[in-house]
Amino acid sequence: MTDKIYVVGHKSPDTDSVTSAIAYANLKNAMGMKEAVPAAAGDINAETKFLLDYFKVPYPEKLTDATDKKVILVDHNEMGQAVDNLNMENIVEIVDHHKIGGLATGKPIFFLNEPVGATGGILANLYEQNNIAISKEMAGLMMSAILSDTVLFKSPTCTPRDKAAVEKLAKIAGVDPMAFGMELLKAKSNMSAKSAKEILLGDFKKFDFSGTKSGVGQVEVMDLADLASKRAAILDEMNKMKEAEKMDMIVLMLTDVMKEASDLLFVGNEVAAAGFEKAFGGKLANNSIYKEKCLSRKKQVIPPLEGAFKK
Ligand code: MN
Ligand code: MN
Repeated sequence: MTDKIYVVGHKSPDTDSVTSAIAYANLKNAMGMKEAVPAAAGDINAETKFLLDYFKVPYPEKLTDATDKKVILVDHNEMGQAVDNLNMENIVEIVDHHKIGGLATGKPIFFLNEPVGATGGILANLYEQNNIAISKEMAGLMMSAILSDTVLFKSPTCTPRDKAAVEKLAKIAGVDPMAFGMELLKAKSNMSAKSAKEILLGDFKKFDFSGTKSGVGQVEVMDLADLASKRAAILDEMNKMKEAEKMDMIVLMLTDVMKEASDLLFVGNEVAAAGFEKAFGGKLANNSIYKEKCLSRKKQVIPPLEGAFKK
């Protein structure tokens, strides 16, 4: 029996990470790489569960330790976001749509990175290029990944290719994409049963901004008022995490997808606070800066932070 090759997305897996693992493992299997299996680098969120249940696709296995395991990375390429104990030598391939973050492999690998709204759209292209038919289930998954990552096309990360891909995939999946996208958003933004810690960690990524150890999370809701009663507890969790993990700052984007704005919560030391204010051109008040027209961590939050901390 050949060793498995785990197709896996980032920690705090979102819909794009989980569905890309499933869709790419499925494509690899169809192309003859039978040892490819999908995995998730953590618990699957409510939005992804709704989606997998809808299309009756089994949940992928959970992979939290990559010791001695061969992996194909999807939807990330930074070791800080990858499953624990991953040896860079064991990376077989990468398919992603994020900035390239300090990766070094020992030998040449297939590394496909395109500046589009979601990994799902890149994979749909790979199916076409390799003449592999897309099933209803896989179409539904890849379509949903694009709708989720681009917040129903509203995010500045969305490209014409993403819209074209959704149009094609929706036909195969047999759903109305915008109506289905709203169902996904509802599943994702239901905060009522979530603890402050779950809200903070649901979509959380670590970054190093010129030596400033940081974490930047994001939570998307239909109305920021849904989070008002939990704000103090969330800040408390952010402070606890900053202390426990000796980080310089933690940022959490509370994103109102209807108003297309984000309340950027901040905890951190004084130097980090100065950098944060510089990045977003405002003054911290009540532990946050409110930014209109701010939906994308990747395009609207990470680059200004990188710029502000650059030495
Ligand atoms: Mn992702
Ligand atoms: Mn993605």
